[in-house]
Amino acid sequence: MPHKDVLILGAGAVGAMVANKLAREFRRKIAKGELTITVLDKNEIAHNQAGFTFVPFGYFADDDLTRHRRYYLSPRLKTYLGPDFQVVDVDLADRKVKVRGGKAFTYDYLVIATGASFDVKAVPGLEKDLNTFYTSLEDAKALGRKINAMKEGKIVVFVPKMPIACPGAPSKFTVMLDDYLRAYKERDKFDITLLWPLPNIGPPAYNSNITANLKERGVNDVREFKYDHVDPERKVVVGKNGDEYSYDLLITVPPHVGSLRGLSIADEEGWVPNDKKTLQYRGPAGNYDDVYVAGDAGSKEILKMGVTAHFQAFVVGENLARELEGIEQKVYYRGHMGCPYVGSAPTAASRGTASLAVWKYGVPLSPFQPSRLGWRLYRMYYYIYWDTTLKGLM
Ligand SMILES: Cc1cc2nc3c(=O)[nH]c(=O)nc-3n(C[C@H](O)[C@H](O)[C@H](O)COP(=O)(O)OP(=O)(O)OC[C@H]3O[C@@H](n4cnc5c(N)ncnc54)[C@H](O)[C@@H]3O)c2cc1C
Repeated sequence: MPHKDVLILGAGAVGAMVANKLAREFRRKIAKGELTITVLDKNEIAHNQAGFTFVPFGYFADDDLTRHRRYYLSPRLKTYLGPDFQVVDVDLADRKVKVRGGKAFTYDYLVIATGASFDVKAVPGLEKDLNTFYTSLEDAKALGRKINAMKEGKIVVFVPKMPIACPGAPSKFTVMLDDYLRAYKERDKFDITLLWPLPNIGPPAYNSNITANLKERGVNDVREFKYDHVDPERKVVVGKNGDEYSYDLLITVPPHVGSLRGLSIADEEGWVPNDKKTLQYRGPAGNYDDVYVAGDAGSKEILKMGVTAHFQAFVVGENLARELEGIEQKVYYRGHMGCPYVGSAPTAASRGTASLAVWKYGVPLSPFQPSRLGWRLYRMYYYIYWDTTLKGLM
């Protein structure tokens, strides 16, 4: 077999799963020098960002959510990690990827798995009062300290726009915030408001559960909120219609953009367009069947969730394996996506309940109820993630 190069941009959830699956399945070809699988990432250290939602309430510590990428990347891979390996140019016509440190990589097959990033400036005024659990472990911990220091006041959880990673996370956070205040503070001295940009939170079955849950908790649940700006001096969020929500603590999910914003292969917001079933590149640079885009980096229209990333990684990994074996028949991404639902959090005064809600193209989510077992499995999953999911074993 002529030598083949597979190049994977990003060693987060999707990049690691695809790389590790191929490294395992093609270990003999790699050993014989017939195949090279190369992975690049601009950070040596990985965080399981899906755990950030729990950090302000102390459910996870740093070491639960942090690993060196070499911990989970197969030694059969060629791995380049750190700021020098930040991708700065992708030329699909020339099959060439350039990184910040000056090195250039070529490929026969390319996987773009660079995830999402944030654009705090998209909301005027937000930069001066940004408290969030979305952007980093440090930010999530700092937010926890601020919540813990409060004795009373108005807390606004603000989601300016879609798409965001895991659209269920802000409402899940709000449920846990309410349980935290009930258990450890005087809840009646606090107001909680959720400002949400769409009519629904998730598909109808998800929306009906969370709507009833927030109502029962006395959360002021504002839907279809159109933001104009944040006024950090007056401590108000101002809507397009002049409506104002005052706060003592503002917790924001900053607008998301694709990590490759500004590169010619991406759209204006940095998302890298892909076919919704084959996940092959279909963007401003043309159509490329040997280029796959998976996970949060992909089209704006495909929901951005770890569950989505997981299913897409298996489709891309399997199709690359078939390409390398010369098998024409492909498998398709059938739109599996999902979001864990939290009904309540375990505190001194409440028990944790959760459920994993999963749906796919054309098959709506069925009604569901969160359970105590669901919460335990959800918590457990964060440990399984490093040793099973990222290794491409499930
Ligand atoms: C607060 C929060 C809570 C969440 N909760 C859940 C949940 O409960 N359930 C769920 O299913 N999902 C959840 N998610 C979403 C889930 O974490 C993401 O969908 C998933 O991580 C996407 O995987 P990915 O591989 O596409 O991106 P990532 O895992 O983000 O990986 C992208 C990688 O690309 C690298 N990279 C970026 N740009 C470059 C560049 N230019 N050059 C080189 N490397 C680059 C990054 O360093 C990173 O390692 C949550 C996300 C957040 C932020």
